[in-house]
Amino acid sequence: MTTYKRPEVLAPAGTLEKLKIAIQYGADAVYIGGEVFGLRTRAGNFSYEEIAEGVEFAHARGAKVYVAANMVTHEGALDGASEFFAKLAEIGVDGTIISDPALIEIALNTLRGTATEVHLSTQASAINGETLNFWKRHGLTRAVLGREVSFDEIAKIRAKTDLEIEVFIHGAMCISYSGRCVLSNHMSLRDANRGGCSQSCRWRYDIYGDGELLNEKGDVNEQFSMSAVDMCMIKYVDQFIKLGMDSLKIEGRMKSIHYVSTVTNVYKKAVDSFMEDPENWVCKQEWIDELWKVAQREMSTGFYLHDPAVEEQLFGERRKRPEYSFIGEVLAYDEAKGIAHIRQRNNFSAGDTIEFYGPGFVHFTQLAQDMKDKDGEELDYCPHPMMELWMPVAQKVEPGFMIRKMGQTDHGNP
Ligand code: SF4
Repeated sequence: MTTYKRPEVLAPAGTLEKLKIAIQYGADAVYIGGEVFGLRTRAGNFSYEEIAEGVEFAHARGAKVYVAANMVTHEGALDGASEFFAKLAEIGVDGTIISDPALIEIALNTLRGTATEVHLSTQASAINGETLNFWKRHGLTRAVLGREVSFDEIAKIRAKTDLEIEVFIHGAMCISYSGRCVLSNHMSLRDANRGGCSQSCRWRYDIYGDGELLNEKGDVNEQFSMSAVDMCMIKYVDQFIKLGMDSLKIEGRMKSIHYVSTVTNVYKKAVDSFMEDPENWVCKQEWIDELWKVAQREMSTGFYLHDPAVEEQLFGERRKRPEYSFIGEVLAYDEAKGIAHIRQRNNFSAGDTIEFYGPGFVHFTQLAQDMKDKDGEELDYCPHPMMELWMPVAQKVEPGFMIRKMGQTDHGNP
């Protein structure tokens, strides 16, 4: 029987809270941003103290932390880079993800002899084996492939190099080569390559030809956008493992704890399931259904099977929307009484059918009922953000379990 190397499931962590949740839900590694040199200026970047806490939390659970330093660096923007990388090594960060060659050189020189690796960011658009070997010769240990590769190309790349390869398996796509775009700079004066993308490609535009409006004014189905639908490779997890991929990456440092916990849970389950029985692995419908419970822009296979075409674009209204909303998280559980201590995240009422889920792909549904506040007063409605309440639950839960309900669109907010 063929044996396969288990790839890591790599989850996004925009905050310390998300880092801990991602690891609790099965991430083998997380990627975060520091306060400088990262590409997600709006993703809640980590202070050195938070990085240290995240690394300690991760290492105590056998997980790794990578810090993205993947912005495009203009003249003068390299100041302080050496000190930044030295600090990451001192904290014990497992790797740093970089695209700019000057930053890579500074990182390699600073990190030589430390346990902090240097990885090539997807922003470098590495999509051939020779490029990976070029970076291997310079001392990098891993490359994140550009999203613009097919399975056929990945097989050829793998045959040419033993550099570790990380691939995106789930999340947003760019209409250009992963972030190499100045649309946002032009439309909103926010630099996509220095963390400020305002997603101008997804806006709706009126189309003019020879001064004439060609679409019907105000009709969203007639207006033009360049919005690529999201990538979802859950059906092809086995292909990535058979191709020898070392890391399967989930996009979305800006996404909610609902998203991070759900998507990490699903891919971890799928990888575990393959490793337990590779010969008989099939993608289960319940995994696909689960992914549809969180906010996203429909799903496609990116460039892996074929070049994206009209079906991989979102023109006009969405064809399908997630139907669940995130309503709370379990803070504690009294096993003797069967009562969960819950923090509310969105409105819900007594009588709502709610679903609890937890790490290891545990799920169950029940009615929201017999809810009480901290004074023991009965609650029919939980309208206040972050309010705490107590509720009997049908099965054992643990701190970190999440709760969602049907019937309301999740906007992806934490
Ligand atoms: S505007 Fe769109 S295509 Fe350009 S970087 Fe942002 S998400 Fe990518």
